[in-house]
Amino acid sequence: MTMPPHQYSSKREALEKLEFEIRGDISLPLQESNLVFGEGNPDGEVLFIGEAPGYYENIEQRPFVGRSGQLLTELLKTIGWKREGVYITNIVKRRPPENRDPTPEEITLYAPYLLRQVEIIHPKLILPLGRFSMNFFLPTAKISRDQGKVFWWKEFVVIPLYHPAAALRSAEVKGELEKSFCTLPALRERYAEFLKERSLIEESPEKENMGESQPGLF
Ligand code: URA
Repeated sequence: MTMPPHQYSSKREALEKLEFEIRGDISLPLQESNLVFGEGNPDGEVLFIGEAPGYYENIEQRPFVGRSGQLLTELLKTIGWKREGVYITNIVKRRPPENRDPTPEEITLYAPYLLRQVEIIHPKLILPLGRFSMNFFLPTAKISRDQGKVFWWKEFVVIPLYHPAAALRSAEVKGELEKSFCTLPALRERYAEFLKERSLIEESPEKENMGESQPGLF
C-alpha cells in the first residue's frame, strides 16, 4: 500500500520511496534501459518535464545531461536559476531504443509515477519541455502556438516550453525558447504569491461564502 506524501517527513524521502517502487516495477516497458527517475530540488517550486532519457541520460542515469541538457542548464543560468534549485524529470523514465519518440502506451504506463512526482513536489510551476510532455497535461495544445503561455491543469500552473533539442535544430525556436525563459522568474513570483493567497483563502473559515475560482487559460 502506498502512503499519501504528507505522511513522509520530507518530499525528498517521499521521492526516494517512489523511486524504489518504480525500480521494482518490472511491468513497465523499456526494462533493457536504465532508470532515470529525476533529480534536483523538490522544494524549489519549479518542475521541468521532458519526454524520455536519451543516450547520455541512460548512461549517467540523470535527466538532461546531453546536448539538450547543456542548453537547458545554460538557459537556467541566464535567468539566474541554478540547475540544482529546480527539479527535472521526464514522462517516460527509461530510454526508448535509438531515441525514438515514446509511444502512447509507454506514456500511459509511466504516467502514474509522473503524477505521483507532481503530487509530492507540488510545484508552483510545471514546465513541460516539448510537445509530448505538453500534451500530457494539455491534450489540445499546440507547441508553436502555446509555448510560453500560462495554463491551469488541476491546481497547477503549466507553462509549455519548446524542447531544447528543437532549439538546437532551429535558431528561430531557440530565440523563442530564450524569450519564454526570460518570463519565468516574474511568472514564478506572481503565481507563488497567487497560490499562497489562494491557499490562505481556502483555509479561511469564511470560504463557504466565496465563489469558486474557475481554472482556465490566462
Ligand atoms: N530529452 C528529454 O526529453 N529528456 C532528457 O532527459 C534528455 C533529452
